[in-house]
Amino acid sequence: MKVVLLVMLCLYPFISLAATAEMLVTKLSDEAYLLKSANYNTNTGALKTSRGIVLIDPMPGENNLRVLSKQLNGIYGSQHIYVLNTHQHDDHSGGNSYFVNAGAKLLSSTIDWAEIKTVEVKSHSSADNIFFHRSSNSIFVGDIYDTDWHPTFYAGGVAGFVSAVDAILELGDENSLIIPGHGKPTSKEELKKFRQNTLDWVSEVKALKESGLQLSEIQHNEQIKKIFQRFNVENRAVFVPEKAFIRFIERTLAEIDNAL
Ligand SMILES: [Zn+2]
Repeated sequence: MKVVLLVMLCLYPFISLAATAEMLVTKLSDEAYLLKSANYNTNTGALKTSRGIVLIDPMPGENNLRVLSKQLNGIYGSQHIYVLNTHQHDDHSGGNSYFVNAGAKLLSSTIDWAEIKTVEVKSHSSADNIFFHRSSNSIFVGDIYDTDWHPTFYAGGVAGFVSAVDAILELGDENSLIIPGHGKPTSKEELKKFRQNTLDWVSEVKALKESGLQLSEIQHNEQIKKIFQRFNVENRAVFVPEKAFIRFIERTLAEIDNAL
């Protein structure tokens, strides 16, 4: 972890970190913070705008939310809070009602404010939103791109995934910071590699399927295992559980069938 932080600080020297036992707080700029609970790995953004604080993807869990709320108060003081979600899955929207009950306003995901631009795509879910925060040059992409998991392009298929990545790459500039739904922030260069690795993965699964291999054979294929490891950018000893690896092959096969 220390090494990862060190590398990140070299890549993004403007990022500063403050860790509490319960939450990792990353300062992206004076107007943008990234908050992650110690026991829940969704990336939550807190952006300062002229109307108040925009909270992106508050994670679920009463205790997480109490800590998050306290952190926001410490960073920005008492301000009106608006809530936005990259998509509707519970790990990204489970904290909405906590803030709404406390007076926050839940925004429709199609906002186009001076400070924040929204782009709607379909890749991980049927309604994915990409949020570009201009002043911090950061792009919140939800689960279109996770840096601690394999790709999950299950709603839009490969075509939806490619257009979602293209939409992300069109925002900001070459120095934009990409904030994934889960995992460490990264760059457009890394996102391009992820896109290529995903396309390599799909074409290899497709080739093996066309050569007559079944799921049980594909899962033991050396080339497939090698490509899969390219998604393990944090070099974890066990990247994902075997069950998740097999399910990813199954879902990829289903996507290949859908695309035919
Ligand atoms: Zn998620």
